[in-house]
Amino acid sequence: MSERLNGHTLLVSLIATPIRHSLSPTMWNEAFAKNGMDYAYLAFEVGNEQLADAVQGIRALKIQGSNVSMPNKQAILPLLDELSPAAKLVGAVNTVVNKNESGHLIGHVTDGTGAMRALQAEGIDIKGQIVTLTGCGGAGTAIAIQAALDGVKELRIFNRDDEFYANGEETVRKILEDTDAKVTISPLEDQEAFKKSLAESSIYIDATSAGMKPQEDVSLITDPAVIRPDLAIMDVVYAPAETKLLKFARENGATVAFNGLQMMLYQGAEAFKLITGEEMPVDYIKSVLF
Ligand code: NAD
Repeated sequence: MSERLNGHTLLVSLIATPIRHSLSPTMWNEAFAKNGMDYAYLAFEVGNEQLADAVQGIRALKIQGSNVSMPNKQAILPLLDELSPAAKLVGAVNTVVNKNESGHLIGHVTDGTGAMRALQAEGIDIKGQIVTLTGCGGAGTAIAIQAALDGVKELRIFNRDDEFYANGEETVRKILEDTDAKVTISPLEDQEAFKKSLAESSIYIDATSAGMKPQEDVSLITDPAVIRPDLAIMDVVYAPAETKLLKFARENGATVAFNGLQMMLYQGAEAFKLITGEEMPVDYIKSVLF
C-alpha cells in the first residue's frame, strides 16, 4: 500500500460509527491495488453531530466519493445536492458521488441493487416472481424498492408489530404510487399468512437483524414444512456466516440458501462503479473476503 500512495492519490471515504469492524476498507483497497488504480479508501468514525462538517470536508478536500453507513444514512439526505431516484424513494443514502470533484454531491443507495446482483449471482432473477420479504428497516426498504423497480411480480412484506411497521406501510404506498409492482405488508404475528405467502413464493429474503448478534438464536422460520428445494432463501445477515435461518434451511433440504456477504460485496461493487467509473474485480474480491 505505501508503495502505491503518492501526491496524486485520490481518496474515497466511509463515514459511520461504529465502523472499525467494517470489511469495506479491505474490499476497496484490495480492488484498487488489483486494478492498479491510484486511489485509497479510509474509514472515518463520524456520527450525526459531525456529519455536516464531514460532508463539507468531502467538498473541500475533493474526496471522490464516500460510503455512508449507520447512523448517517438518513441524516445525510438534506446535506446533499441531488439524490438518485432510488435514494429518493428509499429515503436513505449509502454512497455519495462528488461529481467531477466540483463539490456537487449526489446521493445513491446501492443496498437494493447489491441484493439483486447477489440473487443473480446465485442464478435467481426476481423479475416476474412472487417474493416474501421480512423486514422493513433500512435494508428491507432498499430491497423492496429495488425489487419493485426491477419487475418483481408480487412482493409480500412481513414485519413484526414494532416501530418499523409504519415505515413498511409508507414503503408500500411509495411502491404502489411509483411502480407497477403488486405489494402488501402484513404483521409477522399472523403466522398463517406468513406460511401461506412462503408456500406461494419462489424467493424468501430475510432483511431483519434476526440471526445477528445479540439475536443469534432467532430464526423467523421455525416450521420445516415451509422449506422447499425450490424456495430460494437469502439472509442479509453475514455475521455469523451461518445464521439460525440458514442452518435450519440447510438441515431441511433447501437447495439455494445464502447469507448477506454477496449483497455486501455487490453493494460495494455498485458504489465502486458509481464513484470511480470502473468495475470492481468481484471474483478476486470474493477470493480475498470469502
Ligand atoms: P434496521 O434497524 O433498520 O431494521 C431492522 C429490521 O429488523 C426491522 O424491520 C425490525 O422489525 C426487524 N427485526 C429485528 N429483530 C427482529 C426479530 N427478532 N423478529 C422480527 N423482526 C426483527 O436495520 P437494517 O439496517 O435494515 O439492517 C438489518 C440487517 O441487515 C442487519 O443485520 C444488518 O447488518 C444487515 N445488513 C446487511 C447488508 C449487506 O450488505 N449484507 C446491508 C445492510 C444491512
